[in-house]
Amino acid sequence: MTDFTGKHGLIVGVANKRSISWAIAQAVARRGARLALTYQGRFEEHVHDLSQGLDQSPLVLPCDVSSDTEIASVFEKVDQEFGGLDFVVHGAAFAPREELESPFVNTTRDGFKIAMDISAYSLIGLTRAALPLFEKRGGGSVVTLSYLGSQRVFPNYNVMGVAKAALEATVRYLAADVGAKGVRVNAVSAGPIKTLAAAGIKGFSSILHVYADRAPLRRNVETSEVAEAAAFLLSDAAKAITGEVLLVDGGFHVTGI
Ligand code: NAD
Repeated sequence: MTDFTGKHGLIVGVANKRSISWAIAQAVARRGARLALTYQGRFEEHVHDLSQGLDQSPLVLPCDVSSDTEIASVFEKVDQEFGGLDFVVHGAAFAPREELESPFVNTTRDGFKIAMDISAYSLIGLTRAALPLFEKRGGGSVVTLSYLGSQRVFPNYNVMGVAKAALEATVRYLAADVGAKGVRVNAVSAGPIKTLAAAGIKGFSSILHVYADRAPLRRNVETSEVAEAAAFLLSDAAKAITGEVLLVDGGFHVTGI
């Protein structure tokens, strides 16, 4: 059920070997998927280098998710090469650094717009662009990446928490909208992991310590564990699951204190 032989997927959000999206790419490629990886400008070389480690000659394409033109161009090229698409992984998120340092009440209008556009709206843009390609395969699966900061307050997560709340609501609205086309939309809400994005959050290391102390499993999660859960949601094993936010955080979210 989690075999991806003959399936084609688009992975958005690889910056380097620590990226959660890269772990997902590896997890599905290992099971037979052929992939297109996109990169944001400055990560071109990294993503090209990483792609060499995947079988089945992946496509590597630029995509800034704040640009409708770049999104359209990616799906045009993916369609030309793959003749349709089976799944999309959305692992892009961004908020200006100063928004993740200063008191939340100082969130700027611009910082708010940028965080919402790149971290939440882009899921709508990508899903819409994927629909005609999914249709050629009789359906599709979309997985995005969220964090518990959507529901609880974590120091300095600030506007990114608001963007993740919007992202999770977007998952539900999209799932309801595109479900009749056989398209599923889900999120994996991961526990904290040291990645480039996490490095932008002031005091991130102390969040890692709190999870290791308090999570029922008494440890932090591995990127590969998040990737396995995402692969499950992308696969036919999850074919009746949509609109779901699956917490992969060692159980931290159930704790009261
Ligand atoms: P990462 O830095 O490796 O990935 C973030 C990606 O977002 C990068 O590839 C970056 O290029 C991309 N991005 C930012 N702005 C973009 C734009 N305008 N256009 C296209 N791409 C853009 O870090 P990560 O931790 O792997 O983050 C992946 C996802 O996982 C994010 O949504 C993040 O919020 C989420 N997440 C991370 C953690 C964690 O602790 N690391 C926990 C839960 C959820």
